Amino acid sequence: MNKKIVIGNWKMNLTVPESTILIEKLIKGLRSVSDTEVVICPTFLDIYSASKELNNTNISLGAQNIFFEDEGAYTGEVSPVHLAHFVKYCIIGHSERRVNFGETDKMVAKKVASAVAHGITPIICIGDTLHEKRDGLSRVVVMSQLETSLSYLTEKEVAEVIIAYEPVWAISTSGGMVCEPSDAEQMAKNIRSLVSALYGKQAATKLRVLYGGSVNDSNVDGYAKIKNMDGALVGAASLDYNKFVNIVIMYDKLRKVQKI
Ligand code: PEP
Repeated sequence: MNKKIVIGNWKMNLTVPESTILIEKLIKGLRSVSDTEVVICPTFLDIYSASKELNNTNISLGAQNIFFEDEGAYTGEVSPVHLAHFVKYCIIGHSERRVNFGETDKMVAKKVASAVAHGITPIICIGDTLHEKRDGLSRVVVMSQLETSLSYLTEKEVAEVIIAYEPVWAISTSGGMVCEPSDAEQMAKNIRSLVSALYGKQAATKLRVLYGGSVNDSNVDGYAKIKNMDGALVGAASLDYNKFVNIVIMYDKLRKVQKI
């Protein structure tokens, strides 16, 4: 039985000293967690020091973005070659990058391929906007994002990626409407059945599917109980020590019970 995974997306928050303080607290507070993998994704500026602080702990490190070329005249971008020394994971295709920085499905696919080629596990974000939801297009949009994002990968590689279903309308900064756990569960089923059709049953069973969108310590119970989902991608609540620890502990507790 796979471990659950809870990923904190710190977005463009916390200075390096602030990150160090939170990381030190998390290392202590999450020491006893054994059935849930914890990942934090700080800003690029903090990746180097966070990698040192997290060495030999049960918390892994992820980046929030990556570029698809290894090197060259790409001012301001960060190379997968450089990142691979420090991070195990990388968030790719977050809706904030798609909306604010014009990231297309094709660019997401290239970033995913590049991360995989350099041994970084992509956390691929897919999700429908409120407009698409109202037009009844959620499933079509999300499946199309999924298919394109995986298009350069083999079956074996697809089995190793993480898909985060993040309805844009449920992300806290976009208004934070509630996505019912049953709706998230249905989308997870859709994701696995498309992956099964395109890459086979084994890849569909093995790849990890997460939910993300306003998960906090008051609603985590519902999301943690979703069958066929492997964990959560957490934004705002991951910046709050108590909330994040409570979220991780809830996943870990439920996983321990499921194993009995
Ligand atoms: C996110 O932006 O990835 C996210 C899940 O944010 P929040 O938890 O704040 O909705």
